[in-house]
Amino acid sequence: MNDLVTLAHGGGGEEMEWLIQNVIFDIFSNQTLQEANDSALLNLNGDCAFSTDSFVVSPIFFSGGDIGKIAACGTINDIAMMGAKPLYLSCSLIIEEGLKIDELRKILISMKQICTKAGVQIVCGDTKVVPRGKCDKIFINTAGIGKIKVSGIGLHSLKDNVDILVSGDIGRHGAVILAAREGFETSVNLKSDCAPLNDIVLNLLDSGIKPLAMRDATRGGVSAVLNEWHKASNLGIVIKESNISISDEVRGICEIFGFEPLELANEGTFILAVSKEQSKNALSILQDFNPNAAIIGEITSKRKAVILESIYGTQRFLEAPKGELLPRIC
Ligand code: MG
Repeated sequence: MNDLVTLAHGGGGEEMEWLIQNVIFDIFSNQTLQEANDSALLNLNGDCAFSTDSFVVSPIFFSGGDIGKIAACGTINDIAMMGAKPLYLSCSLIIEEGLKIDELRKILISMKQICTKAGVQIVCGDTKVVPRGKCDKIFINTAGIGKIKVSGIGLHSLKDNVDILVSGDIGRHGAVILAAREGFETSVNLKSDCAPLNDIVLNLLDSGIKPLAMRDATRGGVSAVLNEWHKASNLGIVIKESNISISDEVRGICEIFGFEPLELANEGTFILAVSKEQSKNALSILQDFNPNAAIIGEITSKRKAVILESIYGTQRFLEAPKGELLPRIC
């Protein structure tokens, strides 16, 4: 009875109670959750960041992570990007009838491991089971709350003559999912960059770095972030291609399938805008976490678009990604 998720596990009766107690609470285990009230009661003093995201990645297990890891990292990172310390997450599961309970456990353990690492508790949630074919294995929604450590970080603070940095090499998550779907996964030595960013951000803030804006380069990749920043600030952005680190494996996959590495999703890599006075210091902190972090360009009122300068010194517009890039990437 307890090898596969059945519709009864979502039915509100004995089987559901078993699933919640023996699988979900057993893994997430904390007092607030265990109290099992209709809402978690939290005490938050001061300004907070609140974010939510749904995760539908396919395949649910991939090189370097799984849907549980992404579901925790995605929301933790969105909170960290606002200069906040993530504290609490919710976890809502929509499970397709027939998912192996062992796979569900593996996914929840991944979530728990990331939360433990990030000092975050999963304090409320929901479980639904839908009939076969009505969703694909499992979808997860997480919402999260964090306390603002440094206020004023956001799109509204972007300004002229500041540096743009990236926290590592780009495109790994997108390339891993693409490779897995095309059956290349085992022949490519590549792991998703999926990781919580709260520690890196905390290090920056504790060192006195005052980022103007930060954004994790998820769907649409670096290209989407830069175009959003250009649109929000009405300022130009000039990026040097030679400063952006892209692994040979990511380049290879992009060549085979006709993708642009700058448009590939990342799940543990972010872009930040920092004053020219602070950018070298910020870079050295980022490089402690990933040696491929770099200052990739600047915001400038002298230009009116996002410009990519090639290794040969030629320039082209870096447009916002369009169309159906890669569905179900996260
Ligand atoms: Mg984000």
